[in-house]
Amino acid sequence: MNRLFRLTALVLFFTAAFAQAGGDDNISVSNGRSAITFSRATGGILDISNLDNGHSFISMPGDKPLLWRLQFRRKNGEEIHLNNSEALSPQCTTKTRMLTLEWQNLTLGEESKVIDVRVTCRFQSGNDTAYLNIWVDNRSTKYGLWEVSFPVVTGLGGPDRSDVAMGRGTWGTLYHHPKERLQGKYPSHALPMQFILVQENRNGLYLAAHDARAFEKSFIIEAGKEFRVDTPVMDMGVPGSDWSAPYPFALSIYEGSWMEGCKQYRAWVTRETPWTKKGSLESRKDVPEAITRVTAWLCASGGPEEVAPAVKQFAEAIGTPVGVHWYNWHQIPFDTYYPNYFPTKPGFAEAVRDLTSRGITVMPYINSRLWDSGNENFKEASPAAVKDATGDVTIETYGSGANLAVMCPTQPLWQKKVEEIIQRLGTECGVNAVYLDQIASAPPRWCFDPQHGHPLGSGSWWVDGYRDLLKPIKRWCTSGGRSIALTSENNAEPYMDNIDANLIWTERSDTEIPMITAVYSGYSLYFASNRAFQHGDVSYCMCQARDFVWGTQLGWDGVDLLKPEHEPKLKFLVRLAQLRAKAADFMVYGELLQVLEPINSVPTLSGTWNKPGGDGPVTLQAVQAALWRSRDGDAGVFLANADTESQTYTFDFDSAAYLSVPPSVAAGRIRGISKLNVEQISPDRSIELPPQQASRFTYTVNVPARDALLLVFHPVRRK
Ligand SMILES: [Zn+2]
Repeated sequence: MNRLFRLTALVLFFTAAFAQAGGDDNISVSNGRSAITFSRATGGILDISNLDNGHSFISMPGDKPLLWRLQFRRKNGEEIHLNNSEALSPQCTTKTRMLTLEWQNLTLGEESKVIDVRVTCRFQSGNDTAYLNIWVDNRSTKYGLWEVSFPVVTGLGGPDRSDVAMGRGTWGTLYHHPKERLQGKYPSHALPMQFILVQENRNGLYLAAHDARAFEKSFIIEAGKEFRVDTPVMDMGVPGSDWSAPYPFALSIYEGSWMEGCKQYRAWVTRETPWTKKGSLESRKDVPEAITRVTAWLCASGGPEEVAPAVKQFAEAIGTPVGVHWYNWHQIPFDTYYPNYFPTKPGFAEAVRDLTSRGITVMPYINSRLWDSGNENFKEASPAAVKDATGDVTIETYGSGANLAVMCPTQPLWQKKVEEIIQRLGTECGVNAVYLDQIASAPPRWCFDPQHGHPLGSGSWWVDGYRDLLKPIKRWCTSGGRSIALTSENNAEPYMDNIDANLIWTERSDTEIPMITAVYSGYSLYFASNRAFQHGDVSYCMCQARDFVWGTQLGWDGVDLLKPEHEPKLKFLVRLAQLRAKAADFMVYGELLQVLEPINSVPTLSGTWNKPGGDGPVTLQAVQAALWRSRDGDAGVFLANADTESQTYTFDFDSAAYLSVPPSVAAGRIRGISKLNVEQISPDRSIELPPQQASRFTYTVNVPARDALLLVFHPVRRK
């Protein structure tokens, strides 16, 4: 142990956390830098404060602050709710770095002394995060637990002071002073990652479920009123069902932007979850290289006579690896008669083999969740379908109007069926990728079929079931000389150990922030940038420029892109795709570090995108820029100019912050660096530029009209 480390450890020990009774009705848990204060009367949270600068995140704690709400149900559907503010005051026990609150022998309906609730809040030594846990012991013979709301925080933030960052939709959104209630159900497109951030200028609050089992849960925040996480339980409504803290809720204060909060979450997911256990893309052997190399996608539909020529034209235009997402390759109509995908349309296999021989990724659509209940063969499938609390098969309907049964992913019959379809696509048709619709988009359904062998209702079994379903398929796809990628719709995180790439096709807006690649760059792949095609060249180019620097594989518009009137769009897409092809060290294997803001005046562009709620106006700077780190530790600034004029862009570059993480290490590294070699990479050439000192400096670059650049800052070690 070196001396500096010993000293640091000593300081941490003495500043490390205490739980101490206040002089009044309050009780605080603190680690010396932040403190959470609980009401002795109700056990609810009264304050969450940064002790260094005095900033508090609670605007209006209320007289009876909440901490938990429980929902119980009986077989007949009758509900009872309990919450901490209505119960007697909890018993409080304090220990170093930890507070325990206990409510014992609570009454539920006509049954007295049948519910105990215990909550703990603890700081780990040397860690700025507080972990909150809840246990519910239910001795009712009539009621089962149905849903646990925990933590509930009354008066968190305020509509005139808080911004909320939430990974909703595609990239994630930064809501500026939201007045409305924001919510999202995890894991789904509505909340792909289980955290939100409250930003009050540079004061950030990280609120995350550190749940490696990925239970279904909803994050709900109405700034100034309430924040809470609702988790439906296992064995919902089964008399006597309990809750034994299946995951800790993590809460920590940071100083910085939303990016800091995303990196906290990245640190947790890459350390402790099964979906990152296989390692980064660089270390993984089971992610086909072809899917990592795709630079642009075409979305096509129909028989090979229509699709194949368009794909070839697209591939020739782009000039770097492309993929086609192929819909309606089957004879059955879309969203009808699933999963009877075979036979294919005539000539499909031949066309696939022709396209893949040209290095194109050919990815047919299948749905991996639904079975048409009108099919003759549904009789044999219905035992494996999801059942609601009354025992009926759960049906969903989409545009086709067919009654589509949701299949339970834990059931071998369904697991085998999906495997059989993918194996036929691989062996009979020669595809090198398969798209499995809905897995990473739709939230888990509750299943109450007692024959299925999983806890009734909710639980981690949904995600576990898909892991069991996908694991042998993934193994088959990447063994025996095969190299078939698996992709899914949207980007819910817990499937990424078996899903290689995520179709982020949903609406775009100019209030988005790239939370998904801030967390998962280097670990997963994202594709699509398709929400502006109908709205003119400027709108389209704005969307491509921004989505490009944030790290998605571009495209997924239809074959109309190839029409002569869309030439300016295709031309810009070509430039961006060609630059991405040169930048895999950053955009496939590296990490997104910062969204850059220019320090000079860069003009804005306005356009129309398809936004949540419909088409609407967007305004963005003409040049979009982001800073990435490559797998070799180089810093790379990507700049994309959507304007028809060239633009000058000046940015701050901070070697200490960008060249290595954690920042505490950076200072040491910088000392060992003599200079930064600078290389400017454009789609068609690379040039060396004068080196820079490894320090903080401003850098100015000219970005040509409708083009993109990568500036690589390569640290040269001192000899
Ligand atoms: Zn089931």
